[in-house]
This record gives sequence, C-alpha cells and structure tokens, in this order.
Amino acid sequence: MILAEAALTPEGALGRYWLRLEQGRILDAGHGHPPQTPDLHLTEGVLAPGFVDVHAHGGGGAAFTDGAAAARQVLAAHRHRGTTTMLGSLVSAPLPELLEQAEQLRALVETGDLAGIHLEGPWLSPDHRGAHESSMLSDPTPEAVSAVLDHPAGQLLRYVTLAPELPGALEAAARLRAAGLTVGVGHTGASCAQTREAIAAGASAATHLFNAMKGLHHRDPGAALALLEEPTSFLELISDGVHLDAEMIRFVWDSARRNGGPQRPVLVSDAMPGAAAPDGRYRLGAVDVEVLGGVARRVTSDGSLGAIAGSTLTLSAAVRESILRAGIEPAQALMAATANPAAMIGLENVGRLLPGGRADLVLLDPEWQVRRVMYRGRWLDQRSSGASQTDGPAD
Ligand SMILES: [Zn+2]
Repeated sequence: MILAEAALTPEGALGRYWLRLEQGRILDAGHGHPPQTPDLHLTEGVLAPGFVDVHAHGGGGAAFTDGAAAARQVLAAHRHRGTTTMLGSLVSAPLPELLEQAEQLRALVETGDLAGIHLEGPWLSPDHRGAHESSMLSDPTPEAVSAVLDHPAGQLLRYVTLAPELPGALEAAARLRAAGLTVGVGHTGASCAQTREAIAAGASAATHLFNAMKGLHHRDPGAALALLEEPTSFLELISDGVHLDAEMIRFVWDSARRNGGPQRPVLVSDAMPGAAAPDGRYRLGAVDVEVLGGVARRVTSDGSLGAIAGSTLTLSAAVRESILRAGIEPAQALMAATANPAAMIGLENVGRLLPGGRADLVLLDPEWQVRRVMYRGRWLDQRSSGASQTDGPAD
C-alpha cells in the first residue's frame, strides 16, 4: 500500500490519498487515513497518475513511423519521463503507406503498450501544413474515409486530425466520430463558422490550438474562436515556451474555466524524435528536421531552417512550464496531462487514480521534476533511462 500526503485525487485536487495495488492495477484507493499501515509513505512531492500523451510523433531518437522497434524506443524514452500512455501520431503520407505504418504497430496496440494511433493528416490544409509535406496532403473524400475505416489498421486508430474546409471534411468528421474515433480540428484555415459546422458534425478537439491555424483576428475569427467557445471541446496545447506564449496558455485556461471547465485543456508534447535526445538532424515523415537548442525546425530545400516542426517536449516538461511560467494551478496542470487527455480519446483505465485503473504513477518533486515512475505496478529504474545525459535527472 502507498500513502501520499499530496496526490492528484480523481476529483482533480491535491490531497492525502492512499492506493492498494495488485498485479499492475489499482485494487483499492481512498482519501485520508489508510485502512492499514502503508509500505510506502510519500511525505514529499506530489503523486500523480502516469501522464497520457495523445499527440507525439517520436522521442529518444526514434519515430512511430518507423515500425515496432522504433516505437518501443519512443515509448521507453517518454515513459522514463513520466508518460505511461501514448498515442502514436503519424504525419501525412499516402493512405496505403499510413495504414501500413499503423499496421506495423498492431502488436503494441494489442498489448496495450500503445493506446492507439493518431492520424495527423493527410487531410490537412496546404496553407497551414507546418512540417507536413504538401505533396502528401489529400482530401477526406468518402472513398478515402472508407479506405481507412474498412482497412484492418482502421481498428487501431483512436484520433484523426482534419481541416474542416477541405472537400468532404464534414461528412468525414461525422463518419469517423460514428466509428468511435476522436476528431480534432487542426492544420486548418477554416473560418469560425466552418469550424462550428465541424464541431456539430462530430469534431471534439483542437489539435495544437493556435499552432497551424488562424489566430484570433478581429475581422476573421478562425477555428480557434469556435474551438475555445465550444464548452465540450478539448484543447490541445503545446506548452513548451516556444509554440505558445505563457500568456496564451493562461488565457486558454481562464476561458476554459469560465466555459465548460478545467477538464478541457490537454497538454500534448507533439514530440518529434529529438525529444528526450540530443540536438541534431532527425526525420519527421518525409521531412528533415534540425533540432538546435531544443527547438525543432524544418530543413528547407536550400538547407535553411523553416517552420517549427514538432517539439522536443515531454509531458513532464509541459506540466512544469504550465505551472512555473504560465501560473496554472498545479492540480489543473496535472489534470491536463492525465484525466483530460484520457477523456479526450475515451480511455477509462488511465489518467485517474481509481480502483480498476492501471498502476501507472509519477512522483514529482517540489520543483515538478519527475523523481520516480511506476509502470503497470513496477517502479522503473530511473538511472538506466539515459535521462540524466540529455536533460537533467529524469527530465
Ligand atoms: Zn501538427
């Protein structure tokens, strides 16, 4: 039995909380005084559920696009930094290629090591493609949506990002939602009205809100306003101090609290292979990316550095950035890395410390650095993670 003087409770507060674990699961849990003497009494720091990252392309030098062995490397790199549940995000490519990439990860999804696949593309706007290759983009025609949903790899998907202004996008959103997938609006030049239509059709999330979409322009309020105003939309935020100003992070949280509640913000890493790895040259789908000082940028045809291409973030760093720089209340920042993303993609056994859930835990120190990680009931050896060589102890 574990007793923590400060844990993130299922209600989203920090308080005294105990857990009884058995065979990788939470058998029993409760507030206040434990029913028996704990084996481990955590008097310092904060105990939280393992982090849930619904948008990440890679890490530890590897990418989800490169098959099962590479995916295991990505999962291990993030896991040692506190992320115990991940979707594998795949960047735009021809559909047969994407489905093949997803198929390569089938075993990891079936064992539950990977929570599923996120298709970020190819149904994105060429004008807001960010690091996606324009020749890889296409429209979500009824035939294309059928090709995805009818393919065996379609069952591995949990989340699809699309641009609502593309031909067929609204019908696609409705069909994907009906098939049980989460639909995110992103990489889009959609107007506010077009985005509201996509939400009505079934979209329920913003893929990295504000990045690769129109900002809040006074004469042309784009997707961001519609997504902020819809009280049930989840709002992905890349809180790395590069993609979004700390004031915007605070603004999004304030608007969510007033409209819908603090369960809406979702911290994502959007991590590329250079996350939890040294600076250098990496590949993201069909694109070369250079990481310099922790910032990932697309390498253009003349060799110069272009658009930001994913991040080198891990969720633990996103939590820290949100608390320390944007001033988000710690319990709410932690919810945005645990319960909120789990709810966004419909996972019930992670993200909250409830009986029946997975025994995935993160212990954070008073500076919000990861000190210990439990995965499926076993504490990981932090020294073997390699974390200290790249970005400090366990991140
Ligand atoms: Zn993106």
